[in-house]
Parts: sequence; C-alpha cells; structure tokens
Amino acid sequence: MTVTTERLPMLFCEVEVVSAERLSPSFVRVELGAPELAEFGVDGPRYDQRIKLVLPDPLTGGLAPVAGADDAWLTTWWGRPVAERGHVRTYTIRDVRGSGADTTLVVDLVLHLEAGATGPGSLWAARAAPGDRVVLMAPRRGHAFGGIEFAPPPGAELLLVGDETAVPAVCAVLEQLPSSATGAAFLEVPVTGDVLDVRRPHGMSVTWLPRNGAPLGERLHAAVVGHLGDPAPAADVAPEEVDPDLWETPSYSSSGEPVATAPTAGGPDDLYAWIAGESAVVTGLRRHLVRGVGMDRGQVAFMGYWRRGVPMRS
Ligand SMILES: Cc1cc2nc3c(=O)[nH]c(=O)nc-3n(C[C@H](O)[C@H](O)[C@H](O)COP(=O)(O)OP(=O)(O)OC[C@H]3O[C@@H](n4cnc5c(N)ncnc54)[C@H](O)[C@@H]3O)c2cc1C
Repeated sequence: MTVTTERLPMLFCEVEVVSAERLSPSFVRVELGAPELAEFGVDGPRYDQRIKLVLPDPLTGGLAPVAGADDAWLTTWWGRPVAERGHVRTYTIRDVRGSGADTTLVVDLVLHLEAGATGPGSLWAARAAPGDRVVLMAPRRGHAFGGIEFAPPPGAELLLVGDETAVPAVCAVLEQLPSSATGAAFLEVPVTGDVLDVRRPHGMSVTWLPRNGAPLGERLHAAVVGHLGDPAPAADVAPEEVDPDLWETPSYSSSGEPVATAPTAGGPDDLYAWIAGESAVVTGLRRHLVRGVGMDRGQVAFMGYWRRGVPMRS
C-alpha cells in the first residue's frame, strides 16, 4: 500500500523501485515510482534539485511510518532516534521520466566501495531490486521546497566541479542548460569504468578524471587549478580546517561569514563556479578560488556532499 500525506507542502511518501541497474563499478541507478509523483514538480529547471530518502532499517527492512504526517508530526518524527525512523540520506534527481501517476524519479547512488560500501545508503543501493520500497521527501508542485543551488547569472561562463557524489547533479545540470551555455565541467570518479555518457551543450567541455588509485581529490584539484591558469600544486587542507557542514552559496554560508562581499580586484567577473564533493577537497578548491584567484563569493557555490571517514548525519 502506498502511504502519503496531503497535509505537507512537499511529497513525503513511500515509493517503489521500478528498476535498479548497475550503471558502472561505482554507480547504481534506481528508478522510483508512486502515484503520488503526479504531484512532483518545481518551478523552472530542476538542475541540481536534491531529495531525501529515508532508508529501510538495514536489519529488519522496516520502513519509516509516514501515514498522517503534517508539520507537527514531521517535527516529532525528525526528533525520534534513527533506530525508529530510519537513516536519511540526501541524493540528487538525475532525471524525471513519464508523467502523471506514471512519473518516476531516476537517482544514481554511489556505492562508496573505497569505504567498504557499509553506509546505509550504499548498502541499500547495492541490494536494490524492483519492488523494494523506500520513503521519499521531494518537491510538491506549487510549493517551495528549496534544494536547487545551481543559480548562475545569465550569460556567465560556467565551471562545474564534482566528485562521484556530485556526478548526478553535474550531469543533470549539463542536460538542462540552454544550448548557448559555455564553460567546463570536471568530474572525478573512482575508476575509468565510471565514466558515463552525458548530453551537454556544444560550448561545455566535460573532463572525466578517474582516480584509479590516486588520492581522493588530487586530480580534480590539479585540473581545476590548471583550468584557471595557475599551475600551483594542490595545497594540503588540515583536518581541523575542514568545515564538516561546508555549504557556501551566494545566499547562505555555513561558516556564518557575510555572503555579500565586494568583488576582489583582478578576479574573473564573468565566471560562475559550482563545486561539490568531499568536504576537504571542496575546502581546498574554495581556498584556491576565493583567496588565490579572487573570485567573488556571489559567483560561487561550494558544497560539502560528504566527508571521508565520517558517516552522513542522519
Ligand atoms: C545535496 C546533496 C546531493 C547529493 N547527491 C548524491 C547523489 O545523487 N548520489 C550519491 O551517491 N550521493 C549523493 N550525495 C552524497 C551522499 O549523501 C553521501 O555520500 C552519503 O554519505 C552516502 O551515504 P552512505 O550511507 O552510503 O554513507 P555514510 O554512512 O554517510 O558513510 C559511510 C562511510 O563511507 C564513507 N563515504 C561516504 N561517501 C563516500 C564516497 N563517496 N567515497 C568513499 N567513501 C565514502 C564515509 O566517509 C563513511 O566512512 C549528495 C549529498 C548532498 C548533500
């Protein structure tokens, strides 16, 4: 039975795995469907729209109860122990297929094999099969949900940078950009077999950077620094310098720093950079773009999608 609620300004419902496919060594693609997805939608392009999955209990397979949820119920639910409500993980809508009650959301999940694929998200993805159920939080058409960070000024030259966790977002953005868009995307993935086909405007270059055993972020940092015209080697980021909640966009800063800053003299004024991935890697790139290259904080979005060695807070 599908359970949902009409009383929330978002979709909070059980969805079913319609298909599950091992896309590559490190990615599993699932297609999620439910009649409630007829109500799914955002105003304008969904770009890097994030969603949340509440995963079944890895031991019992039990799903978080969502029946009758309203705002008060949801607040209580968030306050409950993870053991009762299930682990929540954040993902990106890679694609939307079908329409009406046949709408499905496509989500590409990383298996995190370098970490042993032991997190609840990786475990669920590794075992996902048609008929499995999971709880989804997603935008309901006509209601503000948030979760789209890609917001370049019109005509900006684009720089899209991500590791494997941000590959779904960058690919979704590339496929939705206007055909006139220009710029470059750099994507680091665990192994060569993870390089995927992606549609893109002619003016956007895409460079895949398989690690194949190289340290996390090393190739990505070097490629971005080189692209910006500076051959300086990667600066190490000490663990204490990493903001575990790193999230800096033109409208929000996890550090509490003012978001509107005066442009730095000499910085590129027509470049917009969207950078997401492991927090230490993103911290290193942030330092280079803001302090080194002099980019204005209003032209960048830096997002820590995960942190090596630290399970995502549920
Ligand atoms: C806005 C947003 C959008 C996102 N979109 C996607 C998406 O579309 N697809 C996707 O797969 N992820 C995406 N992520 C990242 C995802 O939420 C995290 O990687 C999450 O930690 C995965 O949960 P898990 O249960 O598998 O691992 P966790 O329980 O969180 O972690 C378990 C262990 O694995 C390690 N680990 C976690 N991620 C990796 C990794 N990539 N490589 C190596 N070790 C790792 C952790 O450090 C920890 O040691 C997104 C995150 C955000 C914030």
